[in-house]
Amino acid sequence: MRLVLVGPPGAGKGTQAQFIASHFAIPKISTGDIFRANVSEGTELGVEARKYMDAGDLVPDEVTIGMVKDRLSQGDAQVGFLLDGFPRTVRQAEVLDELLAALLAVLDVVLELVVDDDEVVRRLSGRRTCHRCGHVWHLDFDPPTAESICDRCGGELFQRDDDREDTIRHRLEVYADQTSPLIGYYGELGLLRGVDATGPVEDVTERAINALRRFEA
Ligand code: AMP
Repeated sequence: MRLVLVGPPGAGKGTQAQFIASHFAIPKISTGDIFRANVSEGTELGVEARKYMDAGDLVPDEVTIGMVKDRLSQGDAQVGFLLDGFPRTVRQAEVLDELLAALLAVLDVVLELVVDDDEVVRRLSGRRTCHRCGHVWHLDFDPPTAESICDRCGGELFQRDDDREDTIRHRLEVYADQTSPLIGYYGELGLLRGVDATGPVEDVTERAINALRRFEA
């Protein structure tokens, strides 16, 4: 199955991508994760990407597209994949079509996780990540005992720069301007399926898997 997952920041794409990819035994390719790994390793690509990520802006296409092209040409992606966070613009979607055509492949389905803006701000502004072990807590949904200490390892918790409320509002504007046109693009191609992404994580996963079952090879 070749699948693209779309939805605003905070829709739970990362979490759902993990469950869906493992359910259908396909690799999860997340451009945000690849950028973050490069940022923590201090690579040239990471240094470049960070300037945009911290501001909540999109990393330029010249950087992003080459990275996705490399990843899609790797062996494990030939049987199928789940793309999380790419494409994020209609231009990127057109490039994806071209990359797949060169591999004699087509997309099977685009799954949209549907959630409104206020819920997104509530979810993202409460996220706290542990510096030491990387565990992600949430001040409302999964609170640590003390606001800034990880209960698992005692490490210090921090808020991702792009999870601050003003940056979240900006990321939502970027989504509305640049990414939401994808919904129309894939709708016209007949590839789009939407699922309600509110409520317990397991319920969203179940809805997503049910919506995708018929595309399983
Ligand atoms: P995410 O984890 O998907 O929310 O991505 C985090 C950040 O990485 C985004 O806010 C962008 O700055 C950058 N990013 C991820 N995917 C893309 C993409 N397809 N195009 C441009 N920038 C991206």
